[in-house]
Amino acid sequence: MHDLIIIGAGPAGLTAALYAGRFRMNTLIFEKMACGGQIILSPQIENYPGFPGGISTFELADKFKKQVEELAVTIEDSEVTEIGQGLESGKAVFNVKTQNGNFQAKSIIIASGAQAKKLGVKGEDKFIGRGISYCGTCDGPLFKNKDIAVIGGGDRALEDAIFLTSYAAKVYLIHRRAAFRGSKILEEKVRANPKIDLILDSVVEEISGRDKVEALKVKNLKANSSSEISCQGVFIFVGIEPNTAFLKNLLEMDEHEFIITDEEMRSSKDGIFACGDCRKKSLYQVVTACADGAIAANAVHKYLLNQ
Ligand code: NAP
Repeated sequence: MHDLIIIGAGPAGLTAALYAGRFRMNTLIFEKMACGGQIILSPQIENYPGFPGGISTFELADKFKKQVEELAVTIEDSEVTEIGQGLESGKAVFNVKTQNGNFQAKSIIIASGAQAKKLGVKGEDKFIGRGISYCGTCDGPLFKNKDIAVIGGGDRALEDAIFLTSYAAKVYLIHRRAAFRGSKILEEKVRANPKIDLILDSVVEEISGRDKVEALKVKNLKANSSSEISCQGVFIFVGIEPNTAFLKNLLEMDEHEFIITDEEMRSSKDGIFACGDCRKKSLYQVVTACADGAIAANAVHKYLLNQ
């Protein structure tokens, strides 16, 4: 019986584990992919305090992990598929079903993060892994001296468009409006980069090719006219959706299935807490994910004291 099971080892889950470890809670973390979560999909992070000039996301993820391991918290590589609830001596107990068996805990922190949204255009499913990618760091090196398109106008699109210029011959940045949602400082870098061509007020209508991506059909919304762009790669960054499907309506969520919590990261169910990108909040950043994780572990500590 664990005091706490944390689901997800991104910045939120690992910070929760750091605090839980320091409270000497008997804690287990499950991670279905790599420690670090979504941050390792970007090459570098420039707005995490304490690292002037930025830090490599792999290095930051590794530092988060090492700090947790110093506290003897176990990180298991396994996917959680279901959470059930029972009672033991009149107290709530959670049954966590994973690919590697079932585990029990007195409390749960869900830090399962989010994943890239699909664009939802013709050709997208056909060319995933054959020219279409949702991760610049992972797939950028495959596009050396090629022409590529980046779709979106948020931080991810801006960051990755800049990063991808270190491989690609040309980067078309296609955004549906003229104003960017991402940070001004990134926009300035994008505009100053001679390898980036901005295609604004425009949407992708179709991704085409024979076996691999060869072209995009792009519609200019102002001129109401379509044209074709020749490119070999398409990187899609049009927002995130939470990894909460495994919860199967266990908790209250918003219309996009982000978990609703209070300020203490308490979910609608006693003993279950949620933090980071899987919960509904106003700012999805590494620094806020870490803050959420610390608050969640502190709230679990109080919850267990009152049990
Ligand atoms: P985002 O900030 O939600 O931006 C999504 C972009 O895609 C927006 O510009 C949006 O256009 C566009 N878009 C959405 N649906 C579209 C569609 N169907 N067709 C065409 N364009 C579409 O998402 P993100 O850049 O992927 O980043 C995800 C989250 O991670 C954000 O909350 C971001 O702040 C965060 N993030 C944090 C860090 C960090 O902590 N350092 C780094 C990167 C990202 P509109 O602008 O017109 O809506």
